[in-house]
Amino acid sequence: MTTSGAPAPASPPIRASEALQKKLAKIGLHSEADLLVHLPLRYEDETRITPINRSFGNEPVQVEVVVQSNEIQFRPRRQMIVRAADDSGEITLRFFSFYPSQQAALSEGSRIRAFGEVRGGFFGAEMVHPRFRKVGDDEPLPSELTPIYPTTAGLANSALQKLIGKALAVGDLSETLPEELRQRLKLPGLARSLRFLHTPPPGTDLDTLHARNHPAWRRVKFDEVLAQQLSLRRAYLARREQGAPVLVARDDLGARLLDQLPFGLTGAQLRAMAEIADDLAQPYPMQRLLQGDVGAGKTIVAALAACQAISAGWQAAFMAPTEILAEQHYLKLKDWLEPLGVRVAWLSGSLKTKAKREQLAATAAEAQLVVGTHALIQDGVDFAKLGLAIVDEQHRFGVAQRLALRKKGDNPHQLMMSATPIPRTLAMSYFADLDVTVLDELPPGRTPIKTRLIADNRRDDVVGFVRKHVEEGRQVYWVCPLIEESEALQLQTAQETYDFLFGQFSRLTVGLVHGRLKADEKQAVMAAFAAGEIDVLVATTVIEVGVDVPNASLMVIEHAERFGLSQLHQLRGRVGRGKYESSCILIYAGPLGEIARQRLKIIFENTDGFEIARQDLQIRGPGEFVGARQSGVPLLRYADLEMDADLVEMAREVAEEMLTEHLDLSEQHLKRWLGSREELLKS
Ligand code: ADP
Ligand code: MG
Repeated sequence: MTTSGAPAPASPPIRASEALQKKLAKIGLHSEADLLVHLPLRYEDETRITPINRSFGNEPVQVEVVVQSNEIQFRPRRQMIVRAADDSGEITLRFFSFYPSQQAALSEGSRIRAFGEVRGGFFGAEMVHPRFRKVGDDEPLPSELTPIYPTTAGLANSALQKLIGKALAVGDLSETLPEELRQRLKLPGLARSLRFLHTPPPGTDLDTLHARNHPAWRRVKFDEVLAQQLSLRRAYLARREQGAPVLVARDDLGARLLDQLPFGLTGAQLRAMAEIADDLAQPYPMQRLLQGDVGAGKTIVAALAACQAISAGWQAAFMAPTEILAEQHYLKLKDWLEPLGVRVAWLSGSLKTKAKREQLAATAAEAQLVVGTHALIQDGVDFAKLGLAIVDEQHRFGVAQRLALRKKGDNPHQLMMSATPIPRTLAMSYFADLDVTVLDELPPGRTPIKTRLIADNRRDDVVGFVRKHVEEGRQVYWVCPLIEESEALQLQTAQETYDFLFGQFSRLTVGLVHGRLKADEKQAVMAAFAAGEIDVLVATTVIEVGVDVPNASLMVIEHAERFGLSQLHQLRGRVGRGKYESSCILIYAGPLGEIARQRLKIIFENTDGFEIARQDLQIRGPGEFVGARQSGVPLLRYADLEMDADLVEMAREVAEEMLTEHLDLSEQHLKRWLGSREELLKS
């Protein structure tokens, strides 16, 4: 199958002065087509004039007034104060920023129509930053609702409205959905929908328009989601056309690894293993995301994939986001694989001297499995024959970094892993270019974690819990508050917490690990904790991922309200790994805002990472989940993943059909919706 149709003709550029074009470009408007799909945020009703004395209320209104005075004040801050009146009363218009042209338009004697909310100020009726327009005497009122467009400083809504009006008159509104398909999906035509949304006829109900569930909105949202699906699907197919090494095991390395493990694989792990084994044996690169909740056992699945690559005569690379995690993987993989005769190498950024680096680069060339941090993608690290690139905690890496790892080989297979569960709707849209395997089963014998919420003025109780735990022979993590604004402050807090606990527990050993420690110092502390030499480990979030100490059964997290939910969930997953009853204490500082309360409630009530992620998505929107991917995937402007999940599903099916049966229309569709932005996606 081919994936590129005839190139669709580019949409004509916008005809405007250079200055105007620059402003338009700022909000992504380059062509006529861009204007046509630049849709209103909301609408305002300027079809009526309200007398000033009846203008108070929560709804914005339009008044028509004559300016009586206009002065610039400098105290308490610079502002333009315009006093104006109609037959019924007087009003003040206040502007804190304004252009000279606006000042001129508002000179004494000007008749203007101003639109906004009227408040009762100190001097009577007042509008702050109303949208306004100079008008002549007896100028007729518009008969249609006024669309209000997303814009940027210095670009008036009326200018956008004019440009879009022109584009509607002469622009290309041709249909990109085949008629039969459009009818099957019960969607209105595109031209009709766009005209309606840009210029709703008089009498259209404002609420339906604003709720965005009018059929015209559904059509537009569908088209947008379809463009995203087409683009991702096309990128996926294009990558499929590239060749990749066929990795077929030539010996029983994988089977020997399995034999040697002290546990058997779960059903989910077996399924994942089989899917990946099948992918690796294909002549095109695997692009698979292995998802599994914290502790689901992703590492062994990755190790088995590496075995297949190695056994086929190729190298595998295993990249993790932090030094601690990478080294833990290294130790575990070495432990598993070296007895089987596999050469495992370690590459990290903290290895500083040149000679050392060179030696490591050489190792990278000879080793069969190379484990490391970002150091793997540095210049000078050359793989002789990289067949499989494994990226752990993939959401912590940017698109560019994952691409750089891929470039270390000639189209190696890629296995990405994540414990941040991606809710279904998000997986269907932003991650549609990946195949996804979910480990939906935890290994047996995990003990459920009891979660407690405790206000920070009850710290003494927490200290009591900790003491009791340690007396029972268990160990404790004490995670310091996240202070995003300042690493120095975070460090200071960690040190203070350490001092406080040190003072409380004279007979216990307290350790401290944080991001500023050198890698080997960090490693030494972690090793001491793993060996049971430290009872209470005070830590910043460096322990967030991957660390595995079965005897640690209590996790205390301070200022839990500052953490992201998936972060809390991952942290909490550090305990409950052994046979002991485990708990997690979330200390919060009150009073909590409504959202903070809701979020802590979610983490308190749920243990399933997917459910937590789904609820989190509802509160936060997709931005943070998509994270580093953002730069490579078109963000949705109009559709809402939760609300429009049905459209996403529809578009996913249709994209497949469009790409096989209506390639030219697909290209036109992409041009219209993504236009110049699509270049970004080709990486
Ligand atoms: P994650 O999915 O969070 O990366 P890991 O791969 O670190 O999880 O596995 C967590 C722990 O569970 C490790 O100690 C690992 O050896 C162990 N483990 C993995 N699979 C199984 C299994 N099928 N049965 C028992 N323990 C397992
Ligand atoms: Mg892991």
